[in-house]
Formats: sequence, structure tokens, C-alpha cells
Amino acid sequence: MTRFDYDLFTIGAGSGGIRASRISRHLGAKVAIAENYRIGGTCVIRGCIPKKLLAYAAHYAEDLEDARGYGWSIEGASFSWPALIESKNREIARLSGFYTDGFAKTGIAAIAGTAKLLDAHTVAIGERRVTAQNVLIATGGWPLKPSIPGVEHAITSNEAFELPALPKRVLIVGGGHIATEFAGIFNGLGAEVTISYRGEQILRGFDHDVRNHLHDEMRKKGVRILLNSEVSRIARGADGTLEASITGVPGGTLACDAVMYATGRTPNTAHLGLAAAGVKVDEEGGVVVDRFCRSSVANIYAVGDVTNRIALTPVAVREGAAVAMTLFGGVETPVDHDDVPSAVFSQPPVGTVGLSESKAAGKLGKIDVYKASFLPLRHTLSGRDERTLVKLVVDAATERVVGAHIVGADAPEIIQGIAIAVKAGLTKAQLDATVGIHPTAAEEFVTLREKTAGK
Ligand SMILES: Cc1cc2nc3c(=O)[nH]c(=O)nc-3n(C[C@H](O)[C@H](O)[C@H](O)COP(=O)(O)OP(=O)(O)OC[C@H]3O[C@@H](n4cnc5c(N)ncnc54)[C@H](O)[C@@H]3O)c2cc1C
Repeated sequence: MTRFDYDLFTIGAGSGGIRASRISRHLGAKVAIAENYRIGGTCVIRGCIPKKLLAYAAHYAEDLEDARGYGWSIEGASFSWPALIESKNREIARLSGFYTDGFAKTGIAAIAGTAKLLDAHTVAIGERRVTAQNVLIATGGWPLKPSIPGVEHAITSNEAFELPALPKRVLIVGGGHIATEFAGIFNGLGAEVTISYRGEQILRGFDHDVRNHLHDEMRKKGVRILLNSEVSRIARGADGTLEASITGVPGGTLACDAVMYATGRTPNTAHLGLAAAGVKVDEEGGVVVDRFCRSSVANIYAVGDVTNRIALTPVAVREGAAVAMTLFGGVETPVDHDDVPSAVFSQPPVGTVGLSESKAAGKLGKIDVYKASFLPLRHTLSGRDERTLVKLVVDAATERVVGAHIVGADAPEIIQGIAIAVKAGLTKAQLDATVGIHPTAAEEFVTLREKTAGK
């Protein structure tokens, strides 16, 4: 008989923690999970899911306009932010309830409260003490805000999902996926949006053509993008208006109704008692783990954003499943972080898998590049000047497709299929041998013939 209360104690009921707990339980382990906010974690409560619902809402503005080119006349359309937030909240509550019920049905003990390690096998939740053979840290991340004067007036994505009203003028600080996605949401819903990003181009780390293309398309839709720009101060006037001191605008100040920081997230490890348990963290606070998600302490594992690797839900889920298999499935299961596809649900969206052109050139030396930019069929009648970009990066020596990128409608849906093939070792010749589906944007991936660059 075990001398511990549980075989596995999971801290954090988000994407990674839930998956690890459910599979562990399924494999016969006695499991408890602690959550100090809402069951579901960032993705369900204030990340992927509500973000995508808001992105759908924003796109209706264009759909209504585009419909005119197809013979529709839609008069008197109006939008209600409170109605959208209420619908979104209903769906989030349903999803959170689904996970909570799942715990009860499968016999996972869900404990509400903030958990903290006292030693490698003991967890405190308030006054309560619980012991476990294994502990999983799945506490996710938290949005960062800089310490500039007036930053308390600024929101992050956490609050953006709960605003009582749609701000008329929004300043978004940052240039990553959350910044570009919220720019598309607020702009689509009718706000005047400015992005202030201190880098050379939005979407750092993505392929340069993707970055330039998205920038152009967002600008065409009315988003103002300030590059090499810094916000140094935020002040609130008597009428509630915010004034940001910012480089890159005439006069050096910008008046707005909301300032949103999307300048990165930090791993949630500050008050977890990791030092007491002997768990090592990196310089940014991320739990250091091996390829089995095992920390520096043999019985303590960590998955998801708290490990500071790839901050995506399917990655956290995959890591959680791997830990369960390693601990209770009898199979030491590593996680493969290569060729992880991802999307940016900007307007238009981005889908990407594998290497950017510059990363491929740096890694492989000789590469071939194929790309096309075109007006999708839909916009021949809608009249909208929105172009789609597709791009392939190919290892010249092996003909393997090492990167596939798309910016345009349905990009995330399209890239998921391409990602399967890339992961399976897709070559350019195999793409050429594939018959397209006409008329689609996706068929461009199998009809790219002309090399636009060869290095
Ligand atoms: C705005 C936004 C949009 C995103 N969009 C996407 C997307 O489109 N696609 C995608 O793949 N990813 C997206 N992500 C990233 C995705 O949400 C995360 O990668 C994912 O949620 C990570 O899962 P996790 O299990 O590591 O942590 P989380 O889901 O963050 O879960 C951690 C949980 O731990 C709890 N917790 C923290 N500390 C304690 C403690 N001491 N005791 C008890 N509980 C604690 C937290 O409350 C939280 O519920 C988005 C993120 C954000 C912020």
C-alpha cells in the first residue's frame, strides 16, 4: 500500500494538467488536481477559445460588407459587445463545467485553491496538506507588463475578454500573436487600433514574407502599426481618456480608451515553493525539464507554458499525455517538439509549420523557395483587396519540404493538413505529384512550380 495520499498531484487545471490527470486516472492512478481560478486554464477561460470566438465575431463585419458583391443588401446591421461577451461567457462556463464534471465522473479529486510545494512529496493548499508520490507542475504563464509610469491603467489579454464596453480607440503594445489577433478583433468590431511594437516587424520568429504580408494586409484593413516604437508612460485624464507617451507619432502622445499589453508571458512559478522542493528554474522562471518533462527532482514533472518551451495548447496536452504514459503507462515517453504547426488568428490568419526561410538557410545552407501571392476567388466579387500568400521552403539537397507558410482565409485549417505531410517527411516531388482541389487557395501548395529563390 502506498504511503502517499495520491499517486499524482497536479498543480493547475489547464490544458496540460487536465490531460495528464485524465490519462493517469485512466491508467489506474489515484489523482488529485488543484486549481486556483477556473477549471480549464488559460486556453479555455482566457486564451485560445474565447479569442477565436471574438475573432469570428470580428470577421462578420467584413463578411457583411463582402456579401454586397454577391447580391446581398444588408441594412441596419448592428453589433453589441455585451451580447458577444455574454455568449462567449456562456460557452466558456459550459466548457469549464464539462471538465469539472469529468473530474467527478472519473474520480479525480479537484481541489479549489492555490497549491504550493512544501517538499518533493508534500503540497499545501491553504491549511490543507496533501502528499503524493509524483507531482506535476502545470501552472501555465501570466501576462507581463513593464514597470512604466501609469502601467496600472493598462490591461492585458486577461482583462480584454471582460471589458464592459468596446473601447473606441485601442493601443496594443506588442507584436506577437496575441497583439496581432486582438488588433484584428478590435479593428474588425469597429475600434480604431494602433499597434506599438519595438521591433523591426510584427510576428518575430515567423518567416519574413509572412511578417511583411500580414503587416500589409492589416494596414489595408485600417490597423495602424508603429514599428521601432516604445511606450514610456500612460496617464489617465479627468474624462477617463488615456494618454500614452509613445515614439513614432506626431507630438509623441496618443489618446485612447484602452491600452493593452501583449508583450509576452512569464511562467507561473513565483510562489510555488519550487526552491523548497529543489526544483530548478531557468533565468525566466521556467521549470527546467528533460525530454520526458522531468524536473531536476526525480518525482516532480512539469508541462506546458510553465516550462517555457512552446506555449501552445496542443503542445501542453501532448506533454501532459506523455507524463501520464511515463508514470503509469509503463512506457518512458519523450515529447517531440519538431515541426509543431501553429496559427495566428489575425485578420487575415496565418498558418505555419517548420522553418522560416532564414532559419532554413542558416541550418541547411542550400534551400529552394517557392511562393505565390494571389487574390482569392472570393474577393473577385467581394471587391476586397486582400491577397493570400503561400510559401514553401525546401531543402535543396534532399528535396524535403522544411517549411510551409500561408497567410489568408482558412490558413490554420489548411496548414493542419500540410503539417501532417511535413511531419511525415514530405518532399517537393510528392507535393507536385498531388492533384489539387479546384478552386481553392490550398491547391496553390501543390501547383507551386517556379523557384523564387535558391540559395
Ligand atoms: C490570449 C491567448 C490566446 C491564446 N491562443 C492560443 C491559440 O490560439 N492556440 C494555442 O494553441 N494556444 C493559444 N494560447 C496559449 C495556450 O492558452 C497555452 O499554451 C495553454 O493554455 C498552456 O496550458 P498549460 O496547461 O501550460 O497552462 P494553463 O492553461 O495556463 O493552465 C494553468 C492553470 O494553473 C492554474 N494555477 C496557476 N498557479 C496555480 C497554483 N499555484 N495553484 C493552483 N492552480 C494554479 C491557473 O489558474 C491555470 O488555470 C493562447 C494564450 C493566450 C493568453
